[in-house]
Amino acid sequence: MRDILVHACCAHCLGKLLAALKAGPEAWAPTVFWYNPNIHPLIEFRRRLKAVKMLVERAALPLIADETYGLVDFCRAVHGHETAPERCRECYALRLGRTAQQARAAGCPVFTSTLVTSRHQDHELIRAAGEAAGTAAGVEFLYLDARAAEADPRLVHMLYHQQYCGCVFSEYDRYKDTTTHLWPPSAAPKQTNPA
Ligand code: SF4
Repeated sequence: MRDILVHACCAHCLGKLLAALKAGPEAWAPTVFWYNPNIHPLIEFRRRLKAVKMLVERAALPLIADETYGLVDFCRAVHGHETAPERCRECYALRLGRTAQQARAAGCPVFTSTLVTSRHQDHELIRAAGEAAGTAAGVEFLYLDARAAEADPRLVHMLYHQQYCGCVFSEYDRYKDTTTHLWPPSAAPKQTNPA
């Protein structure tokens, strides 16, 4: 079995990636790594982290987690590149760069990311960012197209499922055209006149 550090951004994508690794020709011994300064706001960050922790516990896998809420780091990384796909390129480089460094520090010769499970991400950019990060850190980036993989339902049962990619830009894109009220008008808190 080869050790591999698996960068995870959410539980459901992690379930898909673990299934894809298991179905492949090589036997892997995954360690899960949480580093996602791109996820906002704080409550969303905590929900996704909690779900990943629950999955890791169910799968009996080791977890390394940087639980720092990295809003400032993310803003610095994408400053001047606020529009996709440039923003996503910087975001991939930030997360995969750190994952590659962590892989080297942990003695994992290979790393990968749940980003490769997504139908909404740019796989060419992910691959380029992963390979550049791996070269810089002296470890190998494993790219696999895991978009069609299906998670083991026992691993992801009832776990939190996010509705947008992670950053506030993606949250805006997800909801900007919605016509759905966040709560029924009758349930809205009554406005009081402070005067
Ligand atoms: S849309 Fe997703 S990949 Fe792109 S910058 Fe935002 S969090 Fe990162």
